[in-house]
This record gives sequence, C-alpha cells and structure tokens, in this order.
Amino acid sequence: MHITALAGGVGGARFLRGLLAAAPDADVTVIGNVGDDMTMHGLRICPDLDTVMYTLGGGIHEGQGWGRVDETFGVAEELKAYGVGPDWFTLGDKDIATHLVRTQMLGAGYPLSAVTEALCTRWELPVRLLPSTDERVETHVVVDDPEAPGGRRAVHFQEYWVRMHAPDARAIVSVGVEDAKPAPGVLEAIAEADVIVLPPSNPVVSVGTILNIPGIRQAVAGATAPVVGLSPIVGGGPVRGMADKVLAAVGVDVTAAAVAKHYGPELLDGWLVDADADASAVAEVEAAGIACRAVPLMMSSAEATRAMARAALDLAAEIAASHGSARPAS
Ligand code: GDP
Ligand code: CA
Repeated sequence: MHITALAGGVGGARFLRGLLAAAPDADVTVIGNVGDDMTMHGLRICPDLDTVMYTLGGGIHEGQGWGRVDETFGVAEELKAYGVGPDWFTLGDKDIATHLVRTQMLGAGYPLSAVTEALCTRWELPVRLLPSTDERVETHVVVDDPEAPGGRRAVHFQEYWVRMHAPDARAIVSVGVEDAKPAPGVLEAIAEADVIVLPPSNPVVSVGTILNIPGIRQAVAGATAPVVGLSPIVGGGPVRGMADKVLAAVGVDVTAAAVAKHYGPELLDGWLVDADADASAVAEVEAAGIACRAVPLMMSSAEATRAMARAALDLAAEIAASHGSARPAS
C-alpha cells in the first residue's frame, strides 16, 4: 500500500510515527512543509523537514518535539559572546551540522529535494521525505504595529511564533508561492497513492502552505485515493501551537468542524474529530459532504497515536469501498 501524507513539524512527525506503527508494510511518502524555512547566520534552516527527519530517524528531543536529543550549544554561546543575534532563536551544535550540510549542498547547486534525500540517507528514514517545493516559499504573518506605516507589519513566521509568541494575526502571506512548483516526485506521490492522509498538522501554516503550492491542491482534490484528515483542533482549541491565531487570520472558526469545511468536500473525503471533546461535530461535518468519525485524537502515547492512524486508514478503506460499490456495474 502507498500512503502519502502532507505534514508540518511536531504534530505531523508524531502522527507519522503512529502511521508507521499502524501500517508497518506500507510505502509512506511524506510531503513536507517549507513555509517555516529561513536563513540565519548564513545557514539555510528547514524546521519542519528537520523535525520529521529527526523524529522518524530517532534523533529528536522527545520532550520538546523539535531539535536534537543530547544537544549542546557551544556555537550559540560563542555567538552571544560576540554580541551577534538574534537572541530569540538558538541553534544547537548538532542541528547546525545539518544546516551546514544543507547550505553547502544548496550552494553547490543541488535542489532542496536532493539535499533532503541526502540528509535522510544518514538517518535511514523509514519514509520518503519530499519537500513540497524546491523553490523558496516563506510564510509571513501580518501583525498590528502602531509604529509601522499603516499600523501593520509583516514578519517571518519564525519571528511571529518564536520571538513574538503569536499575537493576533491579520493575514498570512506565502512569499514566493506564485512562482513555486511541486518538487520532483510530489505530484506522482499524490497520483499513485492508495490513501492520502492529512495528519493533525496546522491547517493554515503547515498543510495550507503545502496545498497552496500551484498544482498540489488540484492534485490532491483530483486523486483517485481517498483523502482523510485528522483534526488538530480539539475542544475548540489547538492541542499545541498557534493554530487558533492563524485560523482566525484566514476567517475560519477554531472548531474541528470548521477546519474540515475549510479544507472542503472537494479536497477531503473523510475527517476524524476527537471523541471526548467533539463528537457533536460529526453531524455538521457529514452535512458538509465529508464522512466523519469521532475517535480519541490525543497523541498521548505511542499506542494512542497508532490507534489514531489506524482509525484514519480504516475510514479511508470504508470510503474506498463505498466509492467502489457506488460505481455502475459495466
Ligand atoms: P508544527 O509545524 O511544529 O507546528 O507542527 P504541525 O503543523 O505538524 O502540527 C501542529 C498542530 O498539531 C497543532 O495545530 C496542534 O493542535 C496539533 N497537535 C499537536 N498534538 C496533537 C495531538 O495530540 N492531537 C491532535 N489532534 N492534534 C495535535
Ligand atoms: Ca512548522
């Protein structure tokens, strides 16, 4: 079985571990978000791709959910001694090695997809990890700033989230998206999938950024495989992160049902909401033309996460069977 997943960082990576446990024999392709990428100290940093790589490769700091386990910060201390900022973003030494390899390869002319493949070889990744695009697409967030002309200012997503701690957002802009193309293998992985999964990743700045790359949303919507998603919103709020702020910025209510309707029935065939908090959302989602089930959606343990992934695959199988039986006999 071929499974293709569109993943952000921590939420996506943790879910993917459950998916691999639920379907150990599947070929899994992960289409990763590059909207959080940035250049710092001359180094190209891809936070979401690295979170997936470190998590599935066994190098992640489990408690944090991002960055390397047993990390040291010698370089960061030296930069501080030189008075070189920014002081709100700290890179660990082991992590810097990843960015050095990436930056060197990009400088030599390799596309990000080839660089990502090379980095993942070292980690013997149990999935194929593809950046959604080889072009630069960077998420910027428009925030209020009384001192800026017009009273508003756009900041890079990392500055919005890490330095500013996610104040109210007015708009989300994908800088460079118009000129971006899906990376090699992305459209094929969507077209050839038996199941397409949207993990409980951020629907705006993770999955949304991937879908907005020209060609990807149309490919997912037109795929023969059932598309099943899991709600990152539980009980009217994100489990972690700033999805509430970025959903508000794009005019979407912070509920499990509203996120399903935001993806829409053209894209989404099935949706899972949390059984404890959101069972009442099932009827609303189904009324919108999306099959919906309520199951436990908290990734509180490896087993709970595996069961979530199993539920997504079961719903996909159910949808595929009903599509099959709906076809006129010929
Ligand atoms: P990021 O790039 O590190 O922000 O990670 P993602 O975009 O992949 O995932 C972030 C989303 O994961 C947030 O909106 C969270 O609400 C969601 N999330 C995190 N943990 C859980 C969980 O245990 N259950 C569910 N349903 N969602 C979760
Ligand atoms: Ca992210």
